Amino acid sequence: MTIALPPTVASHVPTGILVDGDWRPASSGRTFEVADPATTDTLFDVADGGERDALDALTAANAAFPVWRATPPRERSELLRAVFETLTARTEDVAALITAEGGKPLAESRAEVAYGADYVRWYAEEAVRFPGLARRAPAGSNHQLVLRRAVGPALLVTPWNFPIAMIARKVAPALAAGCTVVVKPARLTPLTTAFVAEIIRAELAERGLPTGVVNVVPSSSASSISTPLLADRRLRKLSFTGSTEVGAQLLAAAAPNILRTSMELGGNAPFLVFEDADIPAAVQGALAAKMRNSGQTCVAANRFLVHRSVAQEFTEGLAEAFRGLVVGHGAEPGTTVGPLIEQAAVDRVEEVVAQAVDAGARVHVGGERPRRTGYFYAPTVLDRVDPEHRIVTEEIFGPVAPVVTFGDEEEAIELANRTPFGLVAYAYTRDIGRVMRLADRVEAGMLGVNRGMVSDASAPFGGVKHSGLGREGGEAGLEEYLEPVYVAL
Ligand code: NAD
Repeated sequence: MTIALPPTVASHVPTGILVDGDWRPASSGRTFEVADPATTDTLFDVADGGERDALDALTAANAAFPVWRATPPRERSELLRAVFETLTARTEDVAALITAEGGKPLAESRAEVAYGADYVRWYAEEAVRFPGLARRAPAGSNHQLVLRRAVGPALLVTPWNFPIAMIARKVAPALAAGCTVVVKPARLTPLTTAFVAEIIRAELAERGLPTGVVNVVPSSSASSISTPLLADRRLRKLSFTGSTEVGAQLLAAAAPNILRTSMELGGNAPFLVFEDADIPAAVQGALAAKMRNSGQTCVAANRFLVHRSVAQEFTEGLAEAFRGLVVGHGAEPGTTVGPLIEQAAVDRVEEVVAQAVDAGARVHVGGERPRRTGYFYAPTVLDRVDPEHRIVTEEIFGPVAPVVTFGDEEEAIELANRTPFGLVAYAYTRDIGRVMRLADRVEAGMLGVNRGMVSDASAPFGGVKHSGLGREGGEAGLEEYLEPVYVAL
């Protein structure tokens, strides 16, 4: 089925490159196609930016920086607040676009708009609360002031799985801090970014603020944008969200220019269910932690580590819940699970499931691709899974829940930490002492206790080990775009 975008969206999606307040074609004249993953139909052709466009965007961001940095925090705050209001008022339009290019069910897209807008509101509020410090030096001989200053023009590179949230988590604190930005959206979902950027552009222009504050360069060749920008001395900051593999490459490319970097990378979240857990609540939490965006989230529960004594009850409950899910186009009423983002994603999920089954895993539900056009895979629950198997050690990024059993808390913690990743962990238990032991010993930047969702604009989101550097959200998210300046007097 082909789903038409609302007219308020279809005729208003910018498909060009945004440089200094103007949408324009790529300097090469080339475009690339953006498709609906539920139908494989092309939605729009988008300008295919390259090196020249990237450098033009940086020139604009660099020219706007002195003015933007000197703009009163209150004015920056009010701009962000106005963007929050517009995003909220246009929830239906933005959600339709997210579903069209990313595939997630409309209800999830609406929730993503609210979540993304919440970061804009939070940083509108933080923009007027710059951190700082004044104190007497320990020797008593002088005073120390620690001020904060905007880092400078920033390159923001985002993934396809949350096209508004990932932009909002970067653009909002950057603008609040006084930084200007060049955004490189994901090739698969540049439309939502363009729509949101247009809202910001219009607000800047209306207020007589510099239009080069936000620039956007979509491209089918990400490195043709990142390579020249990371080597350019005018750039002062890189904030990246995406895979650990690409993050490591960008860190290396940023090193010669000694850039400040923030890295939100891959995950492999353990979902721990202890023998004292409320099992029906754990099943509901597992659904939330696993199935948002068909399992394509960095915080998706990737491994279900369940105490032997409750494994059967939990696994059967989860399989039952998965049977009740409705796979379909995200814009179809009643759909609860949309497609994966592209064919390669389906092929990969199919391959790791087949390998796990060959190695002895048992399929409770799913384990196949539904017969329909689009990049779908059926919600799948597996148990008798070997903890050394790829389906446990790698980020699945699909609607598949492998269950591994453990015998005691010590073994559960050892299994949870048996990964180079460390973004989030979830635990279901009624024992507060155990919760504190887990908080102390599970190697993750975030821990969800008796809940399957942790993220909040006011809290520091981010990982340890191969899951990243730095945090987004909360006070910490603003610090990523500020540098301390120490004044001795
Ligand atoms: P990806 O690393 O392939 O791409 C992310 C971004 O980097 C895209 O804009 C892409 O165009 C760009 N990119 C790709 N190759 C590049 C290169 N060689 N040079 C410069 N830029 C390049 O990741 P993805 O497939 O878009 O997203 C999925 C990954 O993102 C998963 O690993 C997921 O866990 C991670 N993720 C992490 C978080 C977090 O907050 N930690 C949030 C969402 C997604």
